[in-house]
Amino acid sequence: MKKGLAIFAFLLVLGVWSPTFAYVLWGYKWASPNITYECDMYGDYTTQCNNGKTEWSNWTDVNLSYSSNPGITTTAGNYGNVSWSGLCSVGSSSGSTVYRMDISINTYYTDSYSSQKRKGVITHELGHALGLSHENRLGPGGSVMYDNDGRTVYSPTQDDINGVNAIY
Ligand SMILES: [Zn+2]
Repeated sequence: MKKGLAIFAFLLVLGVWSPTFAYVLWGYKWASPNITYECDMYGDYTTQCNNGKTEWSNWTDVNLSYSSNPGITTTAGNYGNVSWSGLCSVGSSSGSTVYRMDISINTYYTDSYSSQKRKGVITHELGHALGLSHENRLGPGGSVMYDNDGRTVYSPTQDDINGVNAIY
C-alpha cells in the first residue's frame, strides 16, 4: 500500500516536471509543408504578422511563402466587444486536410495592445492555421498557444515547434 502510493507520487512528479510533449493538435493538416499566406492587413498588424510568420517558417519544418491567392488569409477589423481578439476558422477542407485557413484579428481589443502583445495574438492564430490547438502553459517553458491574451510568450516555444513538426 505504501509502495503503491510512492509510485503514484513518483508518476505525479514526473508528470509535472518532465512533460515530454504538451502541445495539442487541432486535427487539421495541410497537404504539404509548403503553405502560402498573406499578411496584407495594415501598419503594425502587417509587421507583426510577418514577424510571426517568419518565426514559424524558420523554426519549423513548414515553409511559408507569400501569395496573393494564399492558403492562409488575414484580416484586421473592428468586430466589437465579442470576447475574442483573434480567430482562426477553417475556410476550406476535405476531411482533415485543409486548403484554406482564415485569420481575423479584432482591433476592438488589439489596437490598444503593445506591438509585442499584438504579435502574440497573430502568432497564436498562425499556430492554429498550421494545425495547433490550445496549450495552457504560461512562462518561459510555456506556449504561444495559451488560450488568452494573458500569455507570457509571444513567439513559438520549443514545444510549439515540436507540435508543428509532429504534423509535417
Ligand atoms: Zn486560440
